[in-house]
Amino acid sequence: MKLVLFGPQGAGKGTQSARISEKYDIPSIATGDMFRWAIAHDTEVGHSAQQYVERGQFIPDDVTIEIVRARLEAEDPSKGFLLEGFPRNLVQADALDQYLREKGLKLDAAVVMEVPEEVSLHRLLGRRVCSNCGRNYHVDSPPSHNWTCDRCGGRVEKRFDDGADETIRERLRLYHEQTEPLKAYYESRSMLCTIDGAGSQDEVFDRIVAAL
Ligand code: ADP
Ligand code: ZN
Repeated sequence: MKLVLFGPQGAGKGTQSARISEKYDIPSIATGDMFRWAIAHDTEVGHSAQQYVERGQFIPDDVTIEIVRARLEAEDPSKGFLLEGFPRNLVQADALDQYLREKGLKLDAAVVMEVPEEVSLHRLLGRRVCSNCGRNYHVDSPPSHNWTCDRCGGRVEKRFDDGADETIRERLRLYHEQTEPLKAYYESRSMLCTIDGAGSQDEVFDRIVAAL
């Protein structure tokens, strides 16, 4: 299965991508995680990415497209993959399309998770993340012990790019402006699966599986 997954910040993409990746046995490739890793490990990509991620802006397309290409090459894309957070605009969508065509491959579906703006904001403003394994929590449903991760015991804290409310709003604004046009792009190719992101994680996951 070759998939892309997008939707506004706080729609629950991270949670669902882990489950999709497990069910269909495909690697989940999240550009945001790749950039945060690069920044934490002070790599060259990290250096060029940091200022953008901190402000909630997009990293330039050439950098982003290059790291995704390299990662897909390393994974053998013919065996399937789930891209999360890429493409995020039409230029990136065209680059992916071209890359897959070179390989004689085609996406099976583009899944968009939709949630109302208030839900998205509430989830993001209260989001806390395990600094070790990446598991997501929320101030409304924290880990059972003193902000240590239930799964791995790591420290659970605010993600650094969730710091300021303005950064969060900027990311949502960019989503509407740059990423939402992908709906029409994939719709016109009959690849779009629109998923209602409201409800429990299980409910949302069942909708995705049914749609695929
Ligand atoms: P969110 O979707 O909640 O903003 P992500 O983890 O997907 O979080 O992305 C974090 C940051 O990484 C983004 O704000 C942006 O700076 C950068 N980023 C991730 N994916 C892309 C992309 N496809 N193009 C440009 N920048 C990206
Ligand atoms: Zn953890």
